[in-house]
Amino acid sequence: MNYFAIFGDPVEHSMSPLLHNLAFTKLGLQSCYTRHLLKDGTKLKETFLELHLSGANITLPHKLEAFKACDELDEFAKKVGSVNTIVKRQDRLYGYNTDAPGFLRSIECFDQIKSTLLLGAGGTARSVSVALRDAGYSVKIANRSQNRLESFEKDGFSVSRYESMDKSERFDLVINTTSAGLNDDLLPASEELLKPLVGDAKGCVDIIYGKQTPFLSLAQQLGVEHIDGSEMLLQQAVLAFDHFTDGKYDRAVVEKNMRRGFEL
Ligand code: NDP
Repeated sequence: MNYFAIFGDPVEHSMSPLLHNLAFTKLGLQSCYTRHLLKDGTKLKETFLELHLSGANITLPHKLEAFKACDELDEFAKKVGSVNTIVKRQDRLYGYNTDAPGFLRSIECFDQIKSTLLLGAGGTARSVSVALRDAGYSVKIANRSQNRLESFEKDGFSVSRYESMDKSERFDLVINTTSAGLNDDLLPASEELLKPLVGDAKGCVDIIYGKQTPFLSLAQQLGVEHIDGSEMLLQQAVLAFDHFTDGKYDRAVVEKNMRRGFEL
């Protein structure tokens, strides 16, 4: 039997066990995936080893600690300094980031997207912005406060605080990467700023999943095509599964079986 887990705090809401177990069961694998509430991120490696895990996913707030815990890192994880997937091979821990590649797969449903605006400058914005730029999209980052924008600016991104945004700028895709709307009824920025940006976009994405956030309600009200973060969640899980099983299984089959988790 191979054991897998997701580490986070909080972690009880995570759909990852359901998605991975559906795929393990359907493929007839002797594997089991559970959740583990981890309060102290510095204990990640020892907990992983104590539990005799073959692999793990890592969610908030431990993606940086996961990055530090790995012996080997793939190029993209190295570039963004954040790990959400760990695989144990022999006695070494290999780290990957499947959040942003998962995000890229999730926006394939939108046509003719070239320019993107990211609302928020946190950890997810970092990996998503790099993946979007690497894939050839233009990327602008806007945030409520200045502090977190500085490292993006250093990396050559166009950045702005909401209040100093050029009101005439428009983007094909507007993406909410903030946690506004997660546990409250807030928009990530003022309605006055967002209405024209969202209204003139070809699409909108909120990476929060499982609820209609005020940001998505605005897109709906303005008749703009929109998706929540469920597809990103699904796609990052498919890519993580691929790492857990060393690419042995057809991704389309894995995806089809994991997708059933959203219907249960
Ligand atoms: P971070 O804590 O690293 O960043 C939070 C960002 O949100 C900051 O830019 C912060 O701005 C901004 N923010 C928070 N509250 C507000 C508010 N009320 N108004 C405006 N801006 C706000 O978080 P992460 O990047 O790690 O995660 C962000 C979201 O992404 C979470 O909701 C998480 O659940 C979701 N997520 C979804 C995934 C999926 O698979 N669908 C995967 C990973 C994350 P400031 O700098 O001004 O404080």
